[in-house]
Amino acid sequence: MSYRFPVFYSHFFESHDTGVGHPENAGRLVAVVDYLQNAQNVALKASEQLLPKELLKELPKEDSAAVLQMPPSPEKQADQSAEKGAEKWAEKLIWIEPSNREVLADIHRVHEAAYVAALKAFAAKGGGYLDADTVISPDSYEVALLAVAAWLDGVDWVLSDVSSDSRSNSQAASGQTAFVLVRPPGHHAERSSAMGFCLLSNAAISAHYALTQVGIQRVAILDWDVHHGNGTQALIADQPDIAYCSFHQSPAYPGTGLVTETGAHHNVLNLPLPPGSTIDDYQRLWAARALPFLAEFGADLLIVSAGYDANQADPLAAMSLYPEDYAWFTEQCLQLNAPVLFGLEGGYDYQTLAESVAATIRSAICHALAH
Ligand SMILES: [Zn+2]
Repeated sequence: MSYRFPVFYSHFFESHDTGVGHPENAGRLVAVVDYLQNAQNVALKASEQLLPKELLKELPKEDSAAVLQMPPSPEKQADQSAEKGAEKWAEKLIWIEPSNREVLADIHRVHEAAYVAALKAFAAKGGGYLDADTVISPDSYEVALLAVAAWLDGVDWVLSDVSSDSRSNSQAASGQTAFVLVRPPGHHAERSSAMGFCLLSNAAISAHYALTQVGIQRVAILDWDVHHGNGTQALIADQPDIAYCSFHQSPAYPGTGLVTETGAHHNVLNLPLPPGSTIDDYQRLWAARALPFLAEFGADLLIVSAGYDANQADPLAAMSLYPEDYAWFTEQCLQLNAPVLFGLEGGYDYQTLAESVAATIRSAICHALAH
């Protein structure tokens, strides 16, 4: 089986209806899916243009040579190299529908059972506002459960040797990365409350679940969403075997994430950055603080809370990143030499969100193919 990069996604994630004008809406996922599928179509078109060997055999020798030697126009050449570039990564994408696994026991590891039950009951009654920003619709509870299932499926995938090529062959990184394309996001959700568009703490639930898997003793979470993941931090802060590292704008919502918040076991590293920060600022902090922290922790699995609202175009924050910067960020994660699971958090400008998710996936695929 050749290398494939999975995107865990379901149309059902669009059924969490937050109402007209809400920034965290189904259009976010539609934009990303459209963008990725278009890249796949370009890749398919490029591979269709290759002349089948059987056809070449049937052509008279001189015709065959003529076909092969005919130089393409410069314009076509540019088209072809763009398509070839697309082919290299986009044709490796596979879409995986999340399983209907039982997730309540995993959720209850980090959330109060009474909160989860109340969420279910509130949705069943039609939903409404849970806090000033967080609104749910009748389907939202089930959507949130399926989002957790997708994250846990992602953990299984990246930790699995079976679902990938053997790690000992030339496609060594195969199966060790995946992207979980879900909503609602999770990193603001607290133990017993929804918050900031988030219902369930997908990343913390996944980290706790991963620790139940054979051979997984330490899990790190890197949160590059522009907002501090107050919920994730709270749900892992007393766990010596889970580390949390966050890059976030400060001051900004939700106001947590001070450098003085270090966790019960020095397992939390907060890296606040002022508004307007660029990739240079992120790179400096990565080299000076995040990389040493993550390298010393030595995780068996890295979970990335991949929000894309630090993009310059994002309407909810004031940072100055561009989609290509997430390719750099992705490569740094992969160089930590652990399986890496990327899961969507924020990102509210459709175009740069889609481009950034694609940059993340492209970078992960190129890394896998090169190693
Ligand atoms: Zn955010």
